[in-house]
Amino acid sequence: MPKLLEGKAGLITGAASGIGRAGAIAFATEGAKVIVSDINQAGGEETVRLVREAGGEAQFFKCDVTDEAQVKNLINYVVSKYGKLDWAFNNAGISITVALADTKTEDWDLVIKTNLYGYYYCMKYEIGAMLKTGGGAIVNTGSDAGVVSTPYGAAYGTSKFAITGLTQCAALDYARMGIRINSIGPGITDTAMISAFKESSPEIMQAILDSVPTGRMGRAEEAANAALFLLSDMASHITATHLLVDGGQFAKL
Ligand code: NDP
Repeated sequence: MPKLLEGKAGLITGAASGIGRAGAIAFATEGAKVIVSDINQAGGEETVRLVREAGGEAQFFKCDVTDEAQVKNLINYVVSKYGKLDWAFNNAGISITVALADTKTEDWDLVIKTNLYGYYYCMKYEIGAMLKTGGGAIVNTGSDAGVVSTPYGAAYGTSKFAITGLTQCAALDYARMGIRINSIGPGITDTAMISAFKESSPEIMQAILDSVPTGRMGRAEEAANAALFLLSDMASHITATHLLVDGGQFAKL
């Protein structure tokens, strides 16, 4: 049976840990050539090591997605190395948990710059590259917080609702040009992003888990596998969709 991404070249942002790292390993195992990108160089290089250990092909390229010039360089690098960009998994993100009036403007700016502008910059140059070679597939990591409101989520929720909209609007623009664009919406997932919260607020964490129909957190690999499916030809007629990976939580809400 052919591998899902055999010979296909692409990039993952935020691939130094969590969902991005799980994606790098899963995609490379399915035959992809993976550019692992992040601001965290040590973590990114560790992801590359793990991919190679699993028998896959990967290389690290440092990129801060809040900087348009760095994003442009990243996409140019993939195209110069492989002659094409077949797929992209835009995933780098940060989170803050604070009520709106208590949100510091610099924190607001950083969340929006990372979680919204970062995706806009990536898609802008990725789509440009894909149009030159006849198409491709993009998956953006949104969140269940991109379809339902969450307490203390003004900045994060705003950015994630925006990703859902950005994904779907862009998908319509390029649907007849061979480019599919979708997002995934993980529910609470066991990564570094939530580890501090898990330790500082165990009771709230338990209440969240009790609200998840499956009764547990998602694993990074489970979110990455949804992205793998959407990037592959298995999803050849799926575009402009938001695929929740949330153990049924949205339906319950
Ligand atoms: P992680 O913190 O494990 O991974 C995020 C990665 O993005 C980190 O390596 C981080 O580096 C990197 N990063 C942060 N800012 C930038 C930047 N400006 N440019 C490039 N890379 C950057 O978290 P997750 O794997 O959980 O998060 C991945 C995505 O999943 C995010 O978009 C997140 O919002 C989303 N998500 C996560 C959920 C969860 O419960 N974990 C639920 C729903 C969505 P560093 O560590 O140095 O900051």
